[in-house]
Amino acid sequence: MKIGFIGLGNMGGAIAGHLVAAGHEVTVWNRSADKAAPLVERGARQAATPAEAAEGDIVFTMLANDQAVERVVFAEDGIVRAKTHVSKIHVSMSTISVALAERLTEAHAASGGTFVAAPVFGRPFAAQAGKLAVVAAGPNEALDACEPLFKTFAQHIFRVGDAPRLANVIKLCGNFMIMSAIESLAEAMTLADRSGVDKAALLNVLTSTLFAAPIFKTYGEIILHEEFEPAGFAAPLGLKDMNLVDAAAQSARVPMPFLGVVREHLLATLARHGDAVDWSAIAKIVSDNSGAGR
Ligand code: NAP
Repeated sequence: MKIGFIGLGNMGGAIAGHLVAAGHEVTVWNRSADKAAPLVERGARQAATPAEAAEGDIVFTMLANDQAVERVVFAEDGIVRAKTHVSKIHVSMSTISVALAERLTEAHAASGGTFVAAPVFGRPFAAQAGKLAVVAAGPNEALDACEPLFKTFAQHIFRVGDAPRLANVIKLCGNFMIMSAIESLAEAMTLADRSGVDKAALLNVLTSTLFAAPIFKTYGEIILHEEFEPAGFAAPLGLKDMNLVDAAAQSARVPMPFLGVVREHLLATLARHGDAVDWSAIAKIVSDNSGAGR
């Protein structure tokens, strides 16, 4: 199949690699052109514009945020404005706002294309290992066309409805729950530590019993060993996502008091520790607030 892939960051580079490895004709575009080199070496073609990358059957985008997606879709050389180039299906895998998913659905319908939202769960190492979870929503026929492609980089594929926005809501709910789990882990581990309990022992008890979920195991280890750099999911992206949750919550009139707490901790993390740390570095703020290391 002829596939376009736009956005070759930590996630996109790995996902596009699986599509190339599966033998598809992949044309890539990235704002910083040099990031295409490893994929071009493996057989991908490099496009000069997003529109050129969208000349095939399906075009994927895996970009940082709403602004980046708006740029590659709606700019003069974007995949919707340059109508002669438009792929039949645009699959957006980035974590973006529900409002932008709605706008993209309308824009593609107006230009004769189809929009599919397919945000993913899993960090860059899961993307490299082909073990992402894809949450996909869009018209059935389009999802059928995408599914074999998803299988090249995902171990779980969920189809959650016809309206693309539904997948984005699920992704935002998931990231809010991960952030809340990190906050609760950080608070419990700090309490344990300040009370003379070995944090590793606490983690072992909890993740071997009631909290035997991947999220507690993965982030418990990161917090225990303070492995906040290099970031698997950088704190600025975490703040972006909590702001998207806030916009969705306001639009649906849903009060989410925990959201305020984790967002403040993310802001404090960025202010004190910079942009390069993982979002789980909120644990440093929780620990500092207890007077640890004073
Ligand atoms: P990343 O490594 O920072 O890559 C971001 C990509 O967006 C790069 O290709 C970047 O281009 C491009 N970009 C940023 N601003 C742009 C703009 N204004 N115009 C055009 N391109 C622009 O991020 P990532 O970790 O791959 O994440 C990508 C998406 O996946 C995000 O929505 C994130 O929330 C989501 N996600 C991430 C994870 C994770 O653990 N990392 C997990 C699930 C979902 P340059 O190379 O030129 O900077």
